Amino acid sequence: MVDFQLDEMQEMLRELAREFARDEIRPHAEHWDEESVYPKETIQLAHEMGLLNLHIPEAYGGPGLGCMEEVLVNEELAWGDPGFATAAYATALACAPIITGATEEQKNVWLRKVAEEGALASYAVTEPGAGSDVAAIQTTAVRDGDDYVINGSKMWITGAGYADFFFVLAKTDPDAGYRGMSGFIVEANAEGLSLGKKETNMGQRCSDTRSITFNNVRIPANQLVGESESGGWMNAMNAFDLSRPNIAAHATGLSRAAYEHALQYSNERHTFGKPLHKHQAIQFMLADMKTSIEASRMLTWKSAADADGGIKNTESAAHAKRFAADTAMQVSTDAVQVFGGYGYSEEYPVARLMRGAKVMQIYEGSSQVQRMIIGREITKNL
Ligand SMILES: Cc1cc2nc3c(=O)[nH]c(=O)nc-3n(C[C@H](O)[C@H](O)[C@H](O)COP(=O)(O)OP(=O)(O)OC[C@H]3O[C@@H](n4cnc5c(N)ncnc54)[C@H](O)[C@@H]3O)c2cc1C
Repeated sequence: MVDFQLDEMQEMLRELAREFARDEIRPHAEHWDEESVYPKETIQLAHEMGLLNLHIPEAYGGPGLGCMEEVLVNEELAWGDPGFATAAYATALACAPIITGATEEQKNVWLRKVAEEGALASYAVTEPGAGSDVAAIQTTAVRDGDDYVINGSKMWITGAGYADFFFVLAKTDPDAGYRGMSGFIVEANAEGLSLGKKETNMGQRCSDTRSITFNNVRIPANQLVGESESGGWMNAMNAFDLSRPNIAAHATGLSRAAYEHALQYSNERHTFGKPLHKHQAIQFMLADMKTSIEASRMLTWKSAADADGGIKNTESAAHAKRFAADTAMQVSTDAVQVFGGYGYSEEYPVARLMRGAKVMQIYEGSSQVQRMIIGREITKNL
């Protein structure tokens, strides 16, 4: 049986997130974006209220909830503000490869830091010369006695300026392509690690994005994620199966916010003697927005339900992420159109939403990369 009804606990969690977004995020979103303020206190508050890092198992101090619960919360947080949602989700993304690939001992240390102490973390994979083509990364980690020594640089790392530790992908066997990659946990205060300036991005400006340089950064060998070298690639990619449903949920929340603003404005603004929504061209735009949002949510829920049901969700997560991200760009652009000239002004929230939507088609695997994944999945048995 397929049941699209949420259970009582899921409804309550969604309601809690919705109220949090309405009361703690929305009133500040414009200021955070305009002044590029990182919402550290609000992230901390969301953590204390049990709205973040839901997938950390109870065994390591976390709530131990499923991907379904996470996507419900993440849609609401992004409805509050997509920049906040991105900033707040960075730690969960960094924890994903630890959950899927770390040893018991490592999980006990690093996941507990997040769950019990509210530590923040970032996922550091992309480099100045390698984004979509992850196999082309150049950062190296060389074993030296009981340590590893890391050299290289990372680019576009969300939350880097506030992270307590990083998940870092590096090459331990540079000649072995993606099979020669390993994941490491590197503390932010490690000697030789330096951060770049905060990037001035098009949108989601409250989220902190920076480069990181590793200059002979020495870390204990027990901070290699997992039992042995070379599992880094699979682990970093498996993390996306957990995270992409959540990025799709962010995109769905953004779309819903843009649509609601447009719907309300279409009732307030009159042209040619009637409200905008009485013009069929506008009503059809609103109808198309709503259909795409419903479809985004269903694809998101499907990919989350697959993850929770132990079904390999690489393809369903790619469908959800690709479709919801492209929908967020389309719906927010159409919302600006419904607002006309006022939509082009920062006086109204739809401009901020449109700027914030663009990155959803770029990070966590661009829309082209999602199509490559889907294409690979659907043709692999031909
Ligand atoms: C705000 C922001 C936050 C980010 N946060 C993080 C983070 O926390 N951690 C992290 O590791 N990374 C992060 N990233 C990096 C992000 O994941 C990369 O930007 C993304 O993967 C694309 O890589 P790239 O920028 O190098 O573009 P490129 O890989 O150079 O691609 C350029 C363009 O070409 C397209 N393209 C590339 N290859 C192909 C192909 N084979 N076929 C068709 N089209 C192709 C891409 O889709 C893209 O449109 C972030 C980026 C941004 C902008």
